[in-house]
Amino acid sequence: MNSSRVTAEIDLAAVRSNVRALRALAPGAALMAVVKADAYGHGMLPCARTARAAGAAWLGTATPQEALALRAAGDTGRLLCWLWTPGGPWREAVEADVDVSVSGMWALREVVAAARQAGRPARVHLKADTGLGRSGCQPADWPELTAAAREAEAAGVIRVAGVWSHLACADEPGHPSVPRQLAAFDHALAAASAAGLEPEVRHIANSAAVLTLPESHYDLVRPGIALYGISPSPELGTPDRYGLRPAMTLRAMLASVKKVPGGHGVSYGLHYTTPGDTTLALVPAGYADGIPRHASGGGPVLVAGKWRQVAGRVAMDQFVVDLGGDEAAAGDEAVLFGPGDAGEPTAEDWARAAGTIAYEIVTRIGARVPRVHLAEGHADD
Ligand SMILES: *Cc1c(COP(=O)(O)O)cnc(C)c1O
Repeated sequence: MNSSRVTAEIDLAAVRSNVRALRALAPGAALMAVVKADAYGHGMLPCARTARAAGAAWLGTATPQEALALRAAGDTGRLLCWLWTPGGPWREAVEADVDVSVSGMWALREVVAAARQAGRPARVHLKADTGLGRSGCQPADWPELTAAAREAEAAGVIRVAGVWSHLACADEPGHPSVPRQLAAFDHALAAASAAGLEPEVRHIANSAAVLTLPESHYDLVRPGIALYGISPSPELGTPDRYGLRPAMTLRAMLASVKKVPGGHGVSYGLHYTTPGDTTLALVPAGYADGIPRHASGGGPVLVAGKWRQVAGRVAMDQFVVDLGGDEAAAGDEAVLFGPGDAGEPTAEDWARAAGTIAYEIVTRIGARVPRVHLAEGHADD
């Protein structure tokens, strides 16, 4: 057994089969594996390599720094990053052959200047705000942006490789904003085409849309959470419904197990009191490791063959579970979450206990937790 206090084990065979399952769900589109935020806590580089090997023609990141880190690690395929701020590393991105997103005139000006300095054209994806209200160009400003982009393209400074957008409610089946956003996207595409642009890829689908909205797939789909085997929302059902398997298992080694009498308080604030003589086990993982403090009194853990609950508060480095008198020993394993098929809770169960979404559970696993990647490079499993 692994001797570390707490370990996030990442099954790359699951990532690989998830990529294949998602490709099969969007057969007419290319796949962009979204590996931002350290691949949602799963380790960016091994997940990126695995996704490429399983047929992801594109990778996507939020920040340019993430994209440049992929290039520094040797990735050479198509790669888009979208979260830019003024003064960002546009020139480095252009020189590293990274596709960049542009939502407004300030960004177009910066990328044009960077491409001139780099002496090579920048590949740009123009982003339309079709209703989400984050980045993306508003319909009123779209004619100006597309015309200016076309002009820069005609001058050989940029190439408009993509037109894209992002959905607000794809994870809520039947939400009326979805068809509205798709119609707005079609308008933006028609206007781009009228401005003379001929993008290689049009894309709007996140995981939920890949799973449930074939009409949103266009030329390219951008799944994130589904790559890691997690369903975008409880309303969409469990991942196995789509042939997806959770990749991360979070295990800890019990740091102590001891008998205590009834009426004993547990953890800061003494919010839990043992109901009778019992056994308390100490799990050496806390909110500094990404265990949500909001799951105090409720987070589920598999210890000694049964689900237990966090007793009292989650502290920075540790929490306690009441074994109800069952036997265990220091060094025994506690499984906080995993695929769920060996009786352990899932990230979804933790999300419910903490009042959040499973995205946040896996993404917040802390830097102090070692990631152990299993099955890298076994292309045929
Ligand atoms: C994070 C992100 C995605 C992936 O979203 P999931 O819900 O994890 O599939 C896709 N596109 C953009 C722009 C994103 O920011």
